[in-house]
Amino acid sequence: MKPSYLRFFVFAACMAVFSAYAQYQNNPGSNHGNKFEQLGTLLSDPNVYRTASGAPGHQYWQQRADYVIDVEVDDDNQRVIGSETITYTNNSPDPLSYLWIQLDENEHKADAESKKFDESSLSEQVTTSQLQSLIRSDKDLGVKIQKVTDGAGKALAYTINYTMMRIELPTPLKSGAKFVFKIEWQYNISDRMAEGGRGGYEYFAEDGNYLYTITQWYPRMAVYSDFQGWQNKQFTGRGEFALVFGDFKVNITVPSDHVVGATGECRNYASVLTAAQLDRWKQAQQADEPVEVVTLEEAHKAMKGKATDKKTWVYEAKNVRDFAFVTSRRLVWDAMRVKEGIEGHAPMAMSYYGPEAYPLYRPYSTKVVAHTLKVYSKHTFPYPYPVAISVEASNGMEYPMICFNYGRADKDGTYSEATKYGMISVIIHEVGHNFFPMIVNSDERQWTWMDEGLNTFCQFLAEQEWDKDYPSRRGPAHKIVDYMKLPKEQLEPIMTNSENIVEFGPNAYAKPATALNILRETVMGRELFDYAFKEYARRWAFKHPTPADFFRTLEDASAVDLDWFWRGWFFSIDPVDISLDDVQHFQPMGNLQDAQTTAKAAFENDLNTVSRQRNIDEGVNFAVEADTALQDFYNKWDRFEIAEEDKRAFKQYYESLSSDEKALYDGKYHFYQLKFSNKGGLVMPIILQWTFADGTTEIERIPAYIWRKNESEVTKVFAKNKEVTAVLVDPLRETGDIDEGNNAWPRTHTPTRFQLFKQQQGPARGASTGPNPMQRAKRSGQ
Ligand SMILES: [Zn+2]
Repeated sequence: MKPSYLRFFVFAACMAVFSAYAQYQNNPGSNHGNKFEQLGTLLSDPNVYRTASGAPGHQYWQQRADYVIDVEVDDDNQRVIGSETITYTNNSPDPLSYLWIQLDENEHKADAESKKFDESSLSEQVTTSQLQSLIRSDKDLGVKIQKVTDGAGKALAYTINYTMMRIELPTPLKSGAKFVFKIEWQYNISDRMAEGGRGGYEYFAEDGNYLYTITQWYPRMAVYSDFQGWQNKQFTGRGEFALVFGDFKVNITVPSDHVVGATGECRNYASVLTAAQLDRWKQAQQADEPVEVVTLEEAHKAMKGKATDKKTWVYEAKNVRDFAFVTSRRLVWDAMRVKEGIEGHAPMAMSYYGPEAYPLYRPYSTKVVAHTLKVYSKHTFPYPYPVAISVEASNGMEYPMICFNYGRADKDGTYSEATKYGMISVIIHEVGHNFFPMIVNSDERQWTWMDEGLNTFCQFLAEQEWDKDYPSRRGPAHKIVDYMKLPKEQLEPIMTNSENIVEFGPNAYAKPATALNILRETVMGRELFDYAFKEYARRWAFKHPTPADFFRTLEDASAVDLDWFWRGWFFSIDPVDISLDDVQHFQPMGNLQDAQTTAKAAFENDLNTVSRQRNIDEGVNFAVEADTALQDFYNKWDRFEIAEEDKRAFKQYYESLSSDEKALYDGKYHFYQLKFSNKGGLVMPIILQWTFADGTTEIERIPAYIWRKNESEVTKVFAKNKEVTAVLVDPLRETGDIDEGNNAWPRTHTPTRFQLFKQQQGPARGASTGPNPMQRAKRSGQ
């Protein structure tokens, strides 16, 4: 596209254009919508429990559940046998006539709802596991509740609805009162690798041993809250958990050759470890580098036998919303103290892993745990728990103080860079979940983004601090483009219940993480964002926040109106696509001489496209004659002749200007009028890169508010003191613009992916130009 060069020979004409422009700005376009209106009824009303500023209110309350549990993992039959005493405290203002308990293991029952309500189809190529999933399993899975009694041993009536159990209270539990009750249960542990799910066993045929990751294993209290009463939406395997804070004391009985790692602190290492191991545990507590408390050699030795006696590991955890553990005889365990970087705390960072993960976990895992705690602490609050554990279990799943990750070497002990970075990312991510949702305890069953999105955003920060060239998968704006440009019927807003999301990873992890990254880098700036984000984390640590609390706090702590941003990124499915449709160049003339010169140049330019014949007819060969002849020609041309009266009129006009007006007049500014259209629908700041004739560039940022009166197209004039040769929208690729083909003036050719691929193949054989830059970059990266 060519700019239209309009020229004004007197200053007044230029001013007239500006006033017309101003008038245009005062007339909103026909597409004035509501993208900049406040969220209003989209958010729940503030009240005494949750304030309009996004903080907990003066009558904020939450329930509490304390657990004492005895559990045995039966390694001969792959079975969990448990009994628990729950002390439930009703801090709500409401009397409760029943309690809801979660029985998550029932997701594995053969007749589970979740095994029926997904669509299915067959194609010509089907995997074995796809076929197996279509055949109803006859495995005896699911929780067997054996006894439910009150504290005195008197039976309580209960009803099980799939993954939820309602216990009838003998008398309503009054506000402020406690209720103590006991449950005994058992279940067959599922084969995690075959059945799927977050916990279970993995069997290693080569040595005949099991790795047990025991999760969602005890009947757990459901959340009763001010914002939705009982959260008893069924667990289907997808939407994660809503849980109550409390203290845990858990006695874990396992074969005596097993090593246990769990939420909280072990109180009896002296009776479960060997003297040498206990000694190494003491060393690890002082160490800056990971110390093997249980060594690889010890793990190999244990794998060869099978103890028949048992040991009980005693764990305690304070103020946690859940409890999980790992147990196996095929585990190495290393540990070190995180002495610096977490204000007021020095937790133990630890890892548990089998021999197949040793080459990766031994050098990296515990160090990544420590790194994660430090970076997250900086952006939220100091990590408050005494330990943080990473367990290799060929998956990725989080619990308080303990998480399960992947990262196994090949048989020969080597591994790819992709496996290494995948492992580091998953460890950062799962350890990071300690902050969201283990401490900032949002309702995962309802909103996946509140923990996954915020956590994935912090994961990106931690990855970039691990290595500035870290190959982060999620966070950079341009990485969300493929998702955002999907057909609208395949998209849903971030504000969608966990169960109903089609593209789970992009919607609940990548999009919110990207949105927060854009908020931080492009909309709010790091200082305002970091303060507000930290404020949200601190306000809601050890509490139950809702989306409104998050949206409100980020505005409340920053003085940035973000309702348009939440509307666009969290409540809509619109993508970003800002198109630069037109560029016009205006130039006021500094003086009459300049006006004449420029007019001549313009005329000359126009003349190139007009017939040269005319010049020849008039006796002047435009292209070849000497400069004097050209001057002569122009002097004969009435249109540019400056008459004496013109000079007098100009002098009079010029002298009537104020000194400011004269400065502007003499400044030789170029004015560029740019027209943009919002093709994607999501309103965003307009970021421009100007390239000038002298080769320099400048980046200029226009707030998203420019769209507030016309959401579909805007025009804006920019004054530059140098001539512009190119304009580029979103030059740093920071908005997630899904079509960069309409971002440049003059339009540049954007190679298709296919062409890019071909370019990456390098020069044809025999070419003498050497490797192309893409290839060089690849080589130096190895
Ligand atoms: Zn996660």
